[in-house]
Amino acid sequence: MGPPRSRAADEQAAIVACVGIDQRLVDAALDLLARRWPGDGWAVAAAVYLDDGEILTSVGLDNVNSGASLCAEAGALCQAYTMDRRVTGSVCVGRDESGAISVLAPCGICQERLALWGPDIQVGVPADDGWVSRSLRELHPHYWAARDGVWPDTAAHRE
Ligand SMILES: [Zn+2]
Repeated sequence: MGPPRSRAADEQAAIVACVGIDQRLVDAALDLLARRWPGDGWAVAAAVYLDDGEILTSVGLDNVNSGASLCAEAGALCQAYTMDRRVTGSVCVGRDESGAISVLAPCGICQERLALWGPDIQVGVPADDGWVSRSLRELHPHYWAARDGVWPDTAAHRE
């Protein structure tokens, strides 16, 4: 028998393993990108998986005051939280000024937002042949709020 587990460790162990992002999620983000931002030029859109496979999508909130702007993921993450649903995967796609489209890794602020649902959430990151799915823990191996390697659970983010 090993040492007693902490409550947080038990709660983390209870989190169902997150399925990696897949082409269906990437396509949802690409569909929104094409619909909301047709044509050329810089644009971003995001898609997130909920725990039952439902997809939410959103675009960034742009503003001349960049401090008022929000990342593309923010809308879908707020909607998931409003619905009291768990996010299991997130992907952001971007089109640059040349028209090239790629998967963008979540920014540091979005990694903090995604941490609400734990280290096993999957995110899309760019790779040589397009993109790959990685856990938030892989992106953030030394998460500042983790204690003894245990990330705060969803409830702890409200304290
Ligand atoms: Zn972001």
